[in-house]
Amino acid sequence: MNNFNWDKSFLVDFDLESGLSKTATTTKRYLSNMKKVFADQKEVEKILASEDPVIYEFYELGCPEKPGDLLFGTTIIYPGKVGSEYYMTKGHFHTILETAEVYYTLSGEGYMVMENPEGETSEEPLSKGAALYVPKRHAHRTVNTGTEPLVLFFSFAADAGHDYGSIELRGFHKIVLEKDGKPFITNNPNW
Ligand code: ZN
Repeated sequence: MNNFNWDKSFLVDFDLESGLSKTATTTKRYLSNMKKVFADQKEVEKILASEDPVIYEFYELGCPEKPGDLLFGTTIIYPGKVGSEYYMTKGHFHTILETAEVYYTLSGEGYMVMENPEGETSEEPLSKGAALYVPKRHAHRTVNTGTEPLVLFFSFAADAGHDYGSIELRGFHKIVLEKDGKPFITNNPNW
């Protein structure tokens, strides 16, 4: 956890390729922290019997959850699969549902998987140099479908909060699998 003074200007370095910073520290999510997120539970147990890989890491920068502040940082999703399902983030709604978010892809490739509480879904490709607007009321998850780390810069209202719980129970309606060497978006069998 880093302690910046959010009432003053400050700089944070983020490497374009790795997304990592020399002045800030990340929060890491290991497979053991997100076992239930992947569809193939047998494959999860098989991997965990021999290793506990880092699936992704991200910066919080210790931003206070206050109105008016902007939370920002990078998320780095590593390449890999659990069975045929690509590595991805846990995904979340914002606690204040009416909060949008902006993502900019610094390197790598993948998908942003989104859905609102009414079950309307959308998936947008993420590619280097493109910005993605995640609209308010949409849970969002990033999926790395490439062979390099997928590195994203994000920013959103600091008081929005993260609601992991409601999406963790059943997951998203759509999942991204590898089929014939290519990404394939399909219905989540747990829905
Ligand atoms: Zn978010």
